[in-house]
Amino acid sequence: MTTSAVSLRGVTRKYGAVQAVAGVDLEIRAGEVVALLGPNGAGKSTTIEMLLGLARPDQGEVRVYGGSPAEAIAKGLVGVMLQSGGIIEDAKVGELLNLVAGLHKEPMPVGEALERAGIADLRDRKLKGLSGGQQQRVRFAMAIVPQPELIVLDEPTTGMDVESRRDFWASMHAETARGRTVLFATHYLEEADAYADRVVLMRNGKIVADGTAAQIKASVSGRTIRATIPGANLAALAALDGVRSVETRGDVVLLQCADSDATLRYLLASTRAHDIEVTSADLEDAVLAISAEQEALA
Ligand code: ADP
Repeated sequence: MTTSAVSLRGVTRKYGAVQAVAGVDLEIRAGEVVALLGPNGAGKSTTIEMLLGLARPDQGEVRVYGGSPAEAIAKGLVGVMLQSGGIIEDAKVGELLNLVAGLHKEPMPVGEALERAGIADLRDRKLKGLSGGQQQRVRFAMAIVPQPELIVLDEPTTGMDVESRRDFWASMHAETARGRTVLFATHYLEEADAYADRVVLMRNGKIVADGTAAQIKASVSGRTIRATIPGANLAALAALDGVRSVETRGDVVLLQCADSDATLRYLLASTRAHDIEVTSADLEDAVLAISAEQEALA
């Protein structure tokens, strides 16, 4: 049986006249690493706040490991890294971590959390002197101290330079390799592409795409197969199901495909195709295309 880590059913939330979340259904299975994407105001933070019990849905149901968010948090099942707050500026890093560890039944040793977050050397530093990126790592250490099953991160790499972001994701990867479930919101689409098993795209309070990064890329633009095909019968290729267009560059044939798997099987079985490459649009192209589609529907 697959355990549901997070389950949102028909969840809505309004702030005054603003429908921040407009009917979200989302199941996250244990062990999944899910990226939550969408433009500013899409409803990502509100969704995260509801699954942490920080905001109440107007309608619908939120379950975390089968119970309410508050129950899951009380059991130490959830580690959280929010964009702001949670940091006592005058405290030292080690003191703050001790405080957080003291709130939980089976925390990991503070030294280990600092180590895993890559900030063992900052233990005796005051928080107010740290850079934005270092403070994010402190927040990350706070999130993993309870040894949670689920880690929720809202824009975890904001304020980090490229190198810190890479280090951060390496630390994160070590946690997911331990089987932890992760939900993170990000503005950096390449982070979603590189680190998430699954991408959930929100817009105007709704989920408008949900799948692997590869599926989302393919759903929009399909894929391009590029192959050298001696004596290619272009008309036959263009007539294949799942082929949208055929172009040639000398001996090389470019096929825009809705179903690249079927096209590949055909190429290998029925032609002399070689040097085959399959590429898809990047996630950013796909997200922009989905957003434009939604705009046109609105
Ligand atoms: P995202 O995280 O995707 O940027 P948010 O969930 O923060 O989106 O916001 C969704 C919408 O709800 C926005 O229009 C935002 O202005 C509004 N909103 C969010 N939180 C509040 C709040 N506490 N009070 C009033 N409006 C809010």
